[in-house]
Amino acid sequence: MKVIVMGAGVIGVASAWYLARAGHEVVVLERNAGAARETSFGNGGQISVIHAEPWANPAAPWKLLRWLGKEDAPLLFRLRADAAQWSWGLKFLGECTSARTRHNTVQLLRLGLYSRESLQALRAETGIEYDHLERGILQYFTSEKEFAKADGGAQLMRELGCERLLIDADEAVRIEPALAQIRPQLVGATYSRADESGDVYLFTTRLAERCAALGVQFRYGVRIQRLHAEGGRMRGVEYADESGAYQVEKADAYVLALGSFSPQLARTAGVDLDIFPVKGYSVTLPVLEPALAPTVCLTDEEHKVVFSRFGDRLRAAGTAEINSYSMELNRVRCEAIVRRTLDVFPGVSRAELAQYWTGLRPSTPSNVPYIGRSKVEGLYLNTGHGTLGWTHGCGSGRAIADIIDGRQPDCDFAFCGTDQP
Ligand SMILES: Cc1cc2nc3c(=O)[nH]c(=O)nc-3n(C[C@H](O)[C@H](O)[C@H](O)COP(=O)(O)OP(=O)(O)OC[C@H]3O[C@@H](n4cnc5c(N)ncnc54)[C@H](O)[C@@H]3O)c2cc1C
Repeated sequence: MKVIVMGAGVIGVASAWYLARAGHEVVVLERNAGAARETSFGNGGQISVIHAEPWANPAAPWKLLRWLGKEDAPLLFRLRADAAQWSWGLKFLGECTSARTRHNTVQLLRLGLYSRESLQALRAETGIEYDHLERGILQYFTSEKEFAKADGGAQLMRELGCERLLIDADEAVRIEPALAQIRPQLVGATYSRADESGDVYLFTTRLAERCAALGVQFRYGVRIQRLHAEGGRMRGVEYADESGAYQVEKADAYVLALGSFSPQLARTAGVDLDIFPVKGYSVTLPVLEPALAPTVCLTDEEHKVVFSRFGDRLRAAGTAEINSYSMELNRVRCEAIVRRTLDVFPGVSRAELAQYWTGLRPSTPSNVPYIGRSKVEGLYLNTGHGTLGWTHGCGSGRAIADIIDGRQPDCDFAFCGTDQP
């Protein structure tokens, strides 16, 4: 079967890999000059299966209100006269009840477990290197009030069969000695030993090379204009090639993996998707003093910043801005991340060496992605992975390949194309 994959982020490339492994002829269409040049370029690096709670949770509405208009707030809703933003925001609020949060967490956890197992198998099979670490994720707290709530999340994970330990500050420093410098501020932590980290850009570009070796054709520099659907079935994808000429490419199946830009293209085939871009930032610093840098992946709960060590680099990422498609770099938000990094790890690097990056998380209100069939025959969805696209990348790619082949993926997840509730 010939399959066109739209988008060469981590989701598109993982889809291409599993489809090619299943023996399909695969063509990937991507507007950039290479893979992983947009949201899958500079993310936080966490494979955070056991920290799967969505942003939409019972505490979120109050935090959003408190942070409204605060330029360096971890989560910032910039209210605009944009119907899509308001509609998404209202649905987000609808996902903040305890029952919905629990339901969504269970979905995200199941997909995460399946995805981590798929990533580990892929790693063993291919030997792919991407500065990955298997030292767990440690989420540390500097506020007694927030730490008091940590037990709830840990308990839910235990109920679901996953170990997220509640530990004291001394134990946190024993696990990650680089936290010693902020020991007086630490009040406690949670630790999920089975979680991992790694550089999504290295992973995606190296997996794309392996896909090409299997015969996958990557057409870079082509901009998809619209999907041709007629009589309830896909007929082709129209794109402008590098010279600006329009082409229509046809296949037996089509996978939509365009990240934050999926809704616009899906609409041309009559499919509505609840995806809105949630902007985030990261900074990458060269590690000048290795002994001062962490090797366990960390989450700074109060500042909502994550830290991942990639060899001789330290990545710090965070903040969320629900605003628009603007890719403008907001220096205030980047500088806040650098400041926090150097407060936690003084001397590890120098602020003037920081490389800033911004990306748009393709977010559904629940953070649960669309994976599966759409109402248009032949059009499959693999998009809307929000805060967890790297964590869920391999599982999503493997699942969509199974679904296209008519097999039920080996994961108890609500594979919900838009034809199902
Ligand atoms: C600051 C930040 C930190 C994050 N940290 C983590 C983390 O620690 N762990 C985690 O699991 N996730 C994290 N994420 C989320 C994760 O990075 C995303 O969910 C994931 O990268 C989305 O992948 P994607 O392939 O769907 O989208 P993308 O990587 O954006 O890929 C979509 C591709 O489609 C292409 N495209 C779009 N429109 C067109 C068109 N018209 N024609 C042709 N090509 C087109 C784009 O060029 C792009 O290459 C983070 C995100 C951000 C922003």
